[in-house]
Amino acid sequence: MNKKNKETKKMKDIMYVRKNGYTKVSPTTLKNIENFSQAYLNFLGNSKTEREAHDESIKLLDNAGFKNLEKFEKNKNPLNPGDKVYKSCAGKTLMATIIGKEPLEKGMHILGAHTDSPRIDIKQNPLYEAGDMALLDTHYYGGIKKYQWVTIPLAIHGVFIKPNGKKINITIGENPNEPVLCISDILPHLAQDQMVKTMSKGIDGENLDIIVGSIPVKEKNKKEAIKHNVLKILNKKYGIVEKDFLSAEIEIVPAAKPRHAGLDESMILGYGQDDRVCAYACIESLLNLKQTPKYTSCVLLCDKEEIGSVGATGMASNFFENVSAELVNLTYPNYSELVLKRMLNNSWMLSADVNALFDPLYPGAFEKKNSAIMNHGLCVTKFTGSKGKSGANDANAEFMAHIRRIFDKADIIWQTAELGKVDIGGGGTIAYLMARYGMNVIDCGVGLLSMHAPMELAGKLDIYMAYAGYLAFLKDERK
Ligand code: MN
Ligand code: MN
Repeated sequence: MNKKNKETKKMKDIMYVRKNGYTKVSPTTLKNIENFSQAYLNFLGNSKTEREAHDESIKLLDNAGFKNLEKFEKNKNPLNPGDKVYKSCAGKTLMATIIGKEPLEKGMHILGAHTDSPRIDIKQNPLYEAGDMALLDTHYYGGIKKYQWVTIPLAIHGVFIKPNGKKINITIGENPNEPVLCISDILPHLAQDQMVKTMSKGIDGENLDIIVGSIPVKEKNKKEAIKHNVLKILNKKYGIVEKDFLSAEIEIVPAAKPRHAGLDESMILGYGQDDRVCAYACIESLLNLKQTPKYTSCVLLCDKEEIGSVGATGMASNFFENVSAELVNLTYPNYSELVLKRMLNNSWMLSADVNALFDPLYPGAFEKKNSAIMNHGLCVTKFTGSKGKSGANDANAEFMAHIRRIFDKADIIWQTAELGKVDIGGGGTIAYLMARYGMNVIDCGVGLLSMHAPMELAGKLDIYMAYAGYLAFLKDERK
């Protein structure tokens, strides 16, 4: 090594330089990035709701030989190292594990993502007629900028549950030969009043109603004939009557498949990448563990993160703890609460959720050297929270050091970031709910542009590095 090279190397060791990941990946990695992106596009396109993401994930698990936890029994058929199991909660939330070589009380390596995304939900008594059109009344779900959701093609996804328990799945608007739906917006010529409002007030929550029809039934003197016609169509196709909306979960989402984006095809544009991008990377990393891991691997895909992780299918419920207790019961000769507590306390977790990418059109919202940059790799977020880290899960530096070791050893391209400038932004994930057990948790996911918009943009290299980083984490032997 000549003097100049030595100096450059020394500089490299001393300075922390962040670079676009594409400047340093091998041709093999480039190929892997493309293959992974294609598989992800398929998953994302088929997972427009939390129920669909759950079902798609179970398909992947079933194909890889995972078994429903309910098939195991304490004495006849206990769990052993290498066993692959999953447990579903209400068809929305999911926990999948591969039992490791170490006893459970040594802790698990957990990846936790969420599969619900901001959207527009249909109300329980939604159908009405106005302006000689039929409309569905809605109540939006999660943090949306309402003006982004008007005048774009929308699709209906959801379930009706009949009183006898029969479930009717409905999807309208995804195939090119199916109709789409939309929400109207006032024309600029008549928008003087609207245009002087702030953007948060420009579109009223009650005005996010979906136009679903405009042809009346032919019968004479029929009241609400257009609404009646819409009900006739639904009845013919799905056997639904108006009262069935009372026991339904119908979600309105953008009617478009995710696509490769950019002239260089380096990105993916699609709905619901918060947080299905991390959910998919989590599942794939679990499926690609070729050998029984030292520590039990666990993937959690939860619902209701976007509205505070509440409810039976949210991370704040006891589902995770209950399934963990089942695992202890099926692995140990005698069930012990102490073993469960030790297992939770000794676990390590990556809270796999998205962060905000630096947006060059809005540089004022970011502090660039502590922001995630497009295709600079998997993004680690030591703390979330807002205005003085309020509400944050602030991971220990000791744990952060382990993460550095794991990712650097596996050649993962990664970066660290906060969500926006101090005192401007902030956010939360499921991390703090897991930290209650005393386990080490850190946020770690893919950066997005236009988060929570109908179409979110992510870098393909970042997506692939999430998968590769999660895999390295599951394999880690804590040495
Ligand atoms: Mn999220
Ligand atoms: Mn979100």
